[in-house]
Amino acid sequence: GINIGVCALQGDVSEHITAFEAALSASGQEGEVFSFRRAEDISRCDAIVLPGGESTTISRLLHKNDMYGPLRAFRGGIFATCAGMVLIGREIDDPRIEPLGIMDITVGRNAFGRQRDSCEMAVTITGDEKPFCGYFIRAPVIISVGPEAEPLCYADHIVGAVQGPHMALSFHPELGGDLRLHLLFLERLGAYKVAP
Ligand code: GLN
Repeated sequence: GINIGVCALQGDVSEHITAFEAALSASGQEGEVFSFRRAEDISRCDAIVLPGGESTTISRLLHKNDMYGPLRAFRGGIFATCAGMVLIGREIDDPRIEPLGIMDITVGRNAFGRQRDSCEMAVTITGDEKPFCGYFIRAPVIISVGPEAEPLCYADHIVGAVQGPHMALSFHPELGGDLRLHLLFLERLGAYKVAP
């Protein structure tokens, strides 16, 4: 089965567990979804969720728990939403946050937040005609996508990208019950699986 660990240092954890459990059963795959807080737990994951929350806090706690190194060395897929997206990129416009540099994207923090605290917007997913209802909560935006990554979602700006088994999203796909992005992540995770 697939082991999916939700990094539970801070942020919304239970919604991600519920959504990935539903996505696993919808795709007919066996697996376990759990939360974790220690660097040692990273090695038992096939996929990791970096949830939304407060990226300055999460960055500080990642340092405190010595998780930067193990996350950078992790060979599975990372599903990074909102604050998680702030952390997974190569560059971020806030010096308090050390980016993981796992995905070739530059992220702007609180890009939508200056306009409105939170909103629902129709998101276009590449290759899918049906719009996705995105919940944006003080959401970051992808300022640029480097050659190693690929844009995936649009809502005025680029609000989602993929790179190998990784996916980064500005908004909260774990809210609202539409599992398309979780299912796409699982499909890509299978396709990019490295031989043990
Ligand atoms: N603006 C927050 C941050 O950068 C992210 C908000 C969220 O995850 N919903 O930390």
